[in-house]
Amino acid sequence: MIPSILPTYNRAPLAFTHGEGSWLSTGDGRRFLDFGAGIAVNALGHAHPDLVAALTEQAGRLWHVSNLFEIPQQQALADKLVAATFADTVFFTNSGTESCELAIKMARKYWSDRGQPERTQIIAFNGAFHGRSTAAIAAAGSDKMTAGFGPLMPGFTHLDWGDHDALRAALTEQTAAVLIEPVQGEGGIRPLPDQCLRGLRQLCDETGALLILDEVQCGMGRTGRLFAHEWAGVTPDIMMVAKGIGGGFPLGAVLATEDAARAMGAGTHGSTYGGSPLACAVGNKVMDIIADPAFLDTVNARAGLLRQRLEGLVASHPDIFEEVRGIGLMLGLKCRVANAEVRAAAHEQNLITVPAADNVLRLLPPLNVSEDEIAQAIARLDRAAAALETTSK
Ligand SMILES: *Cc1c(COP(=O)(O)O)cnc(C)c1O
Repeated sequence: MIPSILPTYNRAPLAFTHGEGSWLSTGDGRRFLDFGAGIAVNALGHAHPDLVAALTEQAGRLWHVSNLFEIPQQQALADKLVAATFADTVFFTNSGTESCELAIKMARKYWSDRGQPERTQIIAFNGAFHGRSTAAIAAAGSDKMTAGFGPLMPGFTHLDWGDHDALRAALTEQTAAVLIEPVQGEGGIRPLPDQCLRGLRQLCDETGALLILDEVQCGMGRTGRLFAHEWAGVTPDIMMVAKGIGGGFPLGAVLATEDAARAMGAGTHGSTYGGSPLACAVGNKVMDIIADPAFLDTVNARAGLLRQRLEGLVASHPDIFEEVRGIGLMLGLKCRVANAEVRAAAHEQNLITVPAADNVLRLLPPLNVSEDEIAQAIARLDRAAAALETTSK
């Protein structure tokens, strides 16, 4: 008999009732150190007092009015994002998938408005993840996500990650845009080297193709800069954001330059919920905290510590771990045994991690994780690895 919850997820047998900072508690009194942060969503941990205050204060006044009216909280957040980034304009969504949908629509409309409606092709990359809508699975293109859901939305070309020559050959008069994650998350924490992102920007400039960056997972301070592309010193034309921007409240956004967005006039796109007073009350507070350079300095310091400790862990457990990858607090442990086993062993030590493709275990702690919590996480991973070594002998 089918379960009452559609069984599309393999869930860990854990149910949490409370969260505080980097910690999650079960109803039976167990406390877990949360180095998954709801898949990079709880960027400021659980029950952050400022976020709770922003949410509850707004909840007592006004939740939703629809985008048929002005929403001052949305205006304030858009102004902050524009001031802090390459973007001239912002559309608010409720998820990364919705941000993907708009990014694709915007790129196609851009060319259609310029009298080149045939210029619809979007180049994307193997191992990518952009969401679960029909367009987003077509964009990612993997068999795992697309099997059985055809016919797929046409118009996507898939290339191998980092193959500059293939990219140059694939960029034609038909190419509307290139869509890429600066750091692949689901794909196994694979950062695109800075010189590749710069080369990509240059190829787009030469051909006119728009550059769409998917910063749903790697954005909002996760890599130690407000957005990951800042490390490479180049900017996109369109950027997808979600996950961390709501700190746990569903919120996403598409940021764009005026040039890329000009064709999106009244009536071309919409969202009933996107950018509600409630979501934006929280989003404004998240943005105020994360965009502060002093906060990002601390993220970088904690990231350096975690990385260094993880390198040590790999060195002491060479049969369990192969390498550390990633940037900032978006780190992955490439495993030599099944990552599911390492994740389960970490659960035994009351540590939450997130699996990814390529047999990687993701470590995505809250951005305000403490040094002591990092030390505790390493100790727990060390014990988990030791337990796996004992059982495999
Ligand atoms: C999670 C994710 C998405 C999809 O976001 P949802 O909020 O689950 O729709 C898209 N792109 C990337 C890079 C992601 O990590």
